[in-house]
Amino acid sequence: MNSITQQLEQLKATLPSDCTLVAVSKTKPNEDIMEAYNTGHRDFGENKVQELTTKAEQLPKDINWHMIGHLQRNKVKYIAPFVHLIHGVDTFKLLKEINKQAEKHDRIIECLLQIHIAAEETKFGLSEEELQSILESKELESLQNVRIIGLMGMATYTDDEGIVLKEFKSLKEIYDSVEKKSTHSNVKLSTLSMGMSGDYKIALEAGSNMVRIGSTIFGHRN
Ligand SMILES: *Cc1c(COP(=O)(O)O)cnc(C)c1O
Repeated sequence: MNSITQQLEQLKATLPSDCTLVAVSKTKPNEDIMEAYNTGHRDFGENKVQELTTKAEQLPKDINWHMIGHLQRNKVKYIAPFVHLIHGVDTFKLLKEINKQAEKHDRIIECLLQIHIAAEETKFGLSEEELQSILESKELESLQNVRIIGLMGMATYTDDEGIVLKEFKSLKEIYDSVEKKSTHSNVKLSTLSMGMSGDYKIALEAGSNMVRIGSTIFGHRN
């Protein structure tokens, strides 16, 4: 089997230069993260607050930590001091809590709004209507310690590439329409986070510029 270093280098060679790779290190030990870190990689993603904070304490401080999982409001305080980007913002209440905690640490926390594009009921995310209502709310302008820099979405888990492509394209369309008409000073879209090990090539085809990839780099999780 290839090493983490080899996997990472092979993967990076296939990604467009404007695409950010978030190496998803959930469940993997610090030594695996350090192997990737030692190749120069700095963006890592975790989906659990406890694991994220523990790893952030133990590992080098110049890592950009991405919170990619579902985030509960009462846990925002643990990651607010250091988190680089929160991918899964799916309620206005959560955004307000992130703003509040960011203010305490005198930071601006960058966020992605998660949009529900998959057929499965179980995946989190805003509908297009809910997204519009957040972006149109007057209160958003007052949240000066958050910045919405893009959208995130997950496609249906299926072998049918046609379905996956259609879902990713629908998110790209939403992204393009929001990018054109957002007027709030704290909304400036630059990032479309979509694509994982199984579907990132399709996501890139649909216009993704941030992929979140775990098992292709670090091997399968138990
Ligand atoms: C685990 C996870 C990934 C990475 O999944 P792989 O299939 O291992 O690449 C990407 N995004 C989210 C939100 C995840 O939870």
